[in-house]
Amino acid sequence: CGLFGIYGPNLDVANVTYYGLYALQHRGQESAGIAVSDGKRFKIHKDMGLVPEVFDEKLLEPMKGFIAIGHVRYSTTGSSLVANAQPLNFRYLKGLISLAHNGNLTNANEIRHRLALNGSVFQTTTDSEVIVKLIARYGQGSIEEALMKTMIDIKGAFSLLVMTEDKLIGVRDAYGVRPLCIGKMGDAFILASETCALDTVGAEFIRDVDPGEIVVIDGKGLRSIQTLKNPRQAFCVFEFVYLARPDSNFSGQNVTLVRREMGRQLAREYPVEADIVIPVPDSGIAAALGYAEASGIPYMEGLMKNRYIGRTFIQPDQKMRETAVRLKLNPIQGILEGKRVVMVDDSIVRGTTCKQIVQMLRNAGAVEVHLLVSSPPIHYPCYYGIDTSERNQLIAAKRSLDDIRKFIAADGLHYLSLDGMLKATGLPVDNFCAACFTGDYAIEIPQNVGKYSME
Ligand code: 5GP
Ligand code: SF4
Ligand code: MG
Repeated sequence: CGLFGIYGPNLDVANVTYYGLYALQHRGQESAGIAVSDGKRFKIHKDMGLVPEVFDEKLLEPMKGFIAIGHVRYSTTGSSLVANAQPLNFRYLKGLISLAHNGNLTNANEIRHRLALNGSVFQTTTDSEVIVKLIARYGQGSIEEALMKTMIDIKGAFSLLVMTEDKLIGVRDAYGVRPLCIGKMGDAFILASETCALDTVGAEFIRDVDPGEIVVIDGKGLRSIQTLKNPRQAFCVFEFVYLARPDSNFSGQNVTLVRREMGRQLAREYPVEADIVIPVPDSGIAAALGYAEASGIPYMEGLMKNRYIGRTFIQPDQKMRETAVRLKLNPIQGILEGKRVVMVDDSIVRGTTCKQIVQMLRNAGAVEVHLLVSSPPIHYPCYYGIDTSERNQLIAAKRSLDDIRKFIAADGLHYLSLDGMLKATGLPVDNFCAACFTGDYAIEIPQNVGKYSME
């Protein structure tokens, strides 16, 4: 999911949030929502669909105030329903709260059960509502205290934006699994999932929110509360591999440059005799450029992408996914005919997309197709907010490397090594979660999870 929040007394905060969310659209395409505070009341609008489908000028115009938070959703826990759209809004002992969550809790079912026994009722099937209920429960003291207590109870991945009548608050879990950064625009403060959203609205990057940090922004400026910070950080390496926009930076490292280095490393690990290097657009472009650069094989665009289609993977079911591939990608015969092709993509999840693409390249006349993947095989599910939670769908969990190569009918297949991927980030390797590749889960995982386990 994508988060964008602003505290800006002299700005049209709803409008800025709209553009901020637009820049984060790649992080979720199922629903979008904005909540605005004018100091007394909240104005909220959210619905299913893309940011420009959910909002227009007429809707944004009356959303006046000086604080806003927004959310774009990609469902991991809870179905794709309007009831599950965020921000979630509620009234507790001390007033109004709006909350937006990126990540996934691993103990939401336990907490939900405990709260239900004490009389809580739930309106959504998301793990995020559990956070709301806990904040309300700890609502006797200040909102900061309520958040600190809530952070002790919840386990898993959470970057949060919380809005009260007069405060904008950002929270990152103790492992820093999902990103969150701080920006400034004049005297306005911004919190966003990625730096590309700061660039889009014309804000200046200040710093990332630290793991375990709560940042509180109000009339007095920005204040930081450092709560428990885990000694081992666990930033999701998949943000670098796939999820984030190429123009964003995390911990000072630019995403597209990291991907390019992953491609160079692929070329060092797996040199191929070939005529052209092509990416699977858009997710494979940077790594394909890196591969071409390091190998000296020319980079070409062998697949045309329809610019008007979103990420196929994020469409919720398998049948929709398969049709979507043909709609999205078309091979260019003039480029591929008679060629030995190195095709680069960022990851293989189910293997169905690349199987289809390899076939398309052959039909267009490619004589050899070698698939190079700029991340290791995904052997394990993610419980921290990426939709690879059903292990039986992961092709690498079921098949050996050679089986996978046969399944996708490629002449060659190579995945980037774990070491190669982590080193390409230029950051300390211990800073990362790479559990879907290694099975080494830094944060305890639940016994019984699946996307719909709470329904
Ligand atoms: P598959 O192997 O499942 O057929 O498709 C893999 C493709 O899905 C890759 O090109 C990758 O860019 C894309 N993809 C889209 N969304 C996701 C996601 O949330 N996780 C992963 N791992 N890959 C995704
Ligand atoms: Fe990211 Fe994989 Fe860790 Fe999930 S398990 S947080 S996708 S690195
Ligand atoms: Mg892709």
